[in-house]
Amino acid sequence: MFNNKQEFVEEFTKRIEENYGRSVEQSHPTERFMVLGEMVRDFAGIHWKETKEKIAAEEAKQMYYFSMEFLIGRLLTNNLMNLGIYELVRDGLQDLDIDINELEDLESDAGLGNGGLGRLAACFLDSLASLQLPGNGNCIRYQYGLFRQKIENGYQVEVPDQWLTLGNVWEVRKPKSAVDVKFWGHVEMRKDENGELIFEHVDAEHIRAVPYDMPVVGHGTKETNTLRLWSAEASDIIPTNKDFRLYLQELQEICLNVYPDDSTDDGKILRLKQQYFFVSAGVKSIIRSHLRVYPTLDNLGEKIAIQLNDTHPVLAIPELMRVLMDEYHYDWDHAWEITTAVMAYTNHTILSEALEKWPIAFVQRLLPRIYMIIEEINRRFLKEVAEKFPYERDMAYRVAILKDDQVHMASLAVVGSHSVNGVAQLHTDILINDLFHDFVRLYPDKFNNKTNGITHRRWLLYSNPQLRKMLDELIGEGFEYDLNEIEKLMDHVDDPAIQNQFLEIKHQRKEILAKLVKERCGVEIDPNSIYDVQAKRLHAYKRQLLNALHIIYLYQRMKEDPSFTITPTTFIFAAKAAPAYYFAKKVIKLINSLGEVINNDPAVNSMLKVVFIPNYSVSIAEVLMNAADVSEQISTAGKEASGTGNMKFMMNGAMTLGTLDGANVEIDERVGRGNDVIFGLTVDQVTELKKNYNAWDYYNEDERIKKAVDSLVDGTWAEDHDEFKLIFDELMYKNDEYLLLADFASYTAAHEEIQRRYADRGQWAKACLINIAKSGYFSSDRTIQQYADEIWHISPVRIDDK
Ligand SMILES: *Cc1c(COP(=O)(O)O)cnc(C)c1O
Repeated sequence: MFNNKQEFVEEFTKRIEENYGRSVEQSHPTERFMVLGEMVRDFAGIHWKETKEKIAAEEAKQMYYFSMEFLIGRLLTNNLMNLGIYELVRDGLQDLDIDINELEDLESDAGLGNGGLGRLAACFLDSLASLQLPGNGNCIRYQYGLFRQKIENGYQVEVPDQWLTLGNVWEVRKPKSAVDVKFWGHVEMRKDENGELIFEHVDAEHIRAVPYDMPVVGHGTKETNTLRLWSAEASDIIPTNKDFRLYLQELQEICLNVYPDDSTDDGKILRLKQQYFFVSAGVKSIIRSHLRVYPTLDNLGEKIAIQLNDTHPVLAIPELMRVLMDEYHYDWDHAWEITTAVMAYTNHTILSEALEKWPIAFVQRLLPRIYMIIEEINRRFLKEVAEKFPYERDMAYRVAILKDDQVHMASLAVVGSHSVNGVAQLHTDILINDLFHDFVRLYPDKFNNKTNGITHRRWLLYSNPQLRKMLDELIGEGFEYDLNEIEKLMDHVDDPAIQNQFLEIKHQRKEILAKLVKERCGVEIDPNSIYDVQAKRLHAYKRQLLNALHIIYLYQRMKEDPSFTITPTTFIFAAKAAPAYYFAKKVIKLINSLGEVINNDPAVNSMLKVVFIPNYSVSIAEVLMNAADVSEQISTAGKEASGTGNMKFMMNGAMTLGTLDGANVEIDERVGRGNDVIFGLTVDQVTELKKNYNAWDYYNEDERIKKAVDSLVDGTWAEDHDEFKLIFDELMYKNDEYLLLADFASYTAAHEEIQRRYADRGQWAKACLINIAKSGYFSSDRTIQQYADEIWHISPVRIDDK
């Protein structure tokens, strides 16, 4: 391939000429990008085959991460850096008079996901490869990623995300590995020549699943894993009872879009089709490659682990049962033993509207054989429940997989997996004590915690080179491989020179963000102001509205009392709202309206600014997180399972302003109360207050709340007084479900505390350095090592130099 700059330049030049029939000077930037991408992919591919051979030769156990979402972002920089050839390639391109940054900017984000859950999957792939663990991804090759968000007149407008316009340079189409997935039809039972019962799925609609493989390379290793994305195409077996064009149209819909809503169910049949499509294809291809190495499926549980990322891929459980029984003639008990040994489930939410339930009628029609198997799983399970708890008749109802005409996917997940984990300690405690309490009594050993993490390569080393350089010089490069070593920074947090150096770096990152804000929002923001950032999906429980109400309060106070001053603060938001989530979209409009009024009011705009950065995505996050001074993590306690945004901010030296929710609790435990600002009700207090909550009490008793809330409907922020009526009603007439008004006073006090602390620059810098020093625990390398040791039981595969 290429081993030095000279070879790179020659190879690059040759490929441009061969592919496009032009000289390098005459080539178009997109052609240069494509050629570079292909070269890097081929470079990464060198060890792909070796990895597969080594895994087979060592008979190593492999893990497959089944996830509807992989929010990958861009890969060029990441892959070049992980492969250790970034400098070589940059300098080679320089010799050809090509700026690598320009090519980096041509790549579109692979936005195959909604938010945290999908980003977690992407961080996990990076950690698996970097730890040399054989772990692969399984997902859908969506034609369009999550929508691109534009802001027009303050409103969110959704535009299709055409991420494949240039093609996806990282993927390799594998038509030979295609499999068929079957929908509709019905099941016929008969006895075979040995008198065994045979189930045949007849009149099914066949859809071909074609895999596109992307190599996943780790940092400083040769072990190369695979992210397999499935695409739907026409099968050789075409339906006889359906117009071919309709068949094509329907199958194309399967991979058209990322399901744009992470909170409610809509377009149910299509969503169900998507789920079964990638799960069935994934299971079949795993079985195929297993049988290429081993003569039997008896040892599947010892050689394969499948992690189910939330309930979306849970149909993998009945699908594996189906394959084992119907295609390989295992009896129920043996198939069940294998299936539960393979499967493990991660829960990501306790919000009831996000716990998937499918109408039985849909599952029965779309997936008749799968439904029969779910029914039998449910029957046997309820029999076991009745035996274990003969005196608790309601228990069976509470835990049932099938009830009220619905399939309860979380129950199916718990019953069919040997491990169930939450994603932060607090969240796991809630699962154990509340959501899955009955299941814990049935299967006490299944439940465990795996606190989320983020890859410090993308989120620190590659996106914040300034901070990386400082750390390299100060504590050596060891932390790049083992983030726990970052704690060595503790020896320097009191050093004023280091504090100043940190503040200088933060300032540089803030200038980079200011430039982006100027480009994308047309607003000048001052890097000397406090950058207070809330960036995450827009959702009522995440309480962007609480942040907005506090800004309204500050604005009103400044207008009333000219002697009231604060350290200049820039409130920065970035968030996409689900297209059908009307309330969330109104909050986006409100934030933009605040910006419109406040940024243009000379009486306040030297102290206060509000900006909304459109199209929150991985690439935006890479610029945004490391420029923040304050990290807003203000969900109602008990509602945010973990959060991972909080970790990105912390690792880059921002102070958390948060509730005791999700992983905030674990951040707080590590940095200590002096180095974050915690406010608001605890989980227990929320439960207690909910019994008897009246939003009007807070409205009537706190003048600040009354004024801020009233401004939503008195024309302050919109000429049309009804513009924000929905928000007003949510708070006052729907009784403020997420307790914003109850937390308002302590939230305001927390901001005052931030202001006090920020004033002492040395102390502030020290606190930020402590946050960085204590962030080792939040590397996804730690998370993945725990999954590997405690759930998957997989070990590193080492690819040696030849
Ligand atoms: C990290 C990340 C998230 C998750 O943010 P939370 O604050 O944990 O909800 C969502 N979207 C993107 C693009 C991210 O990078």
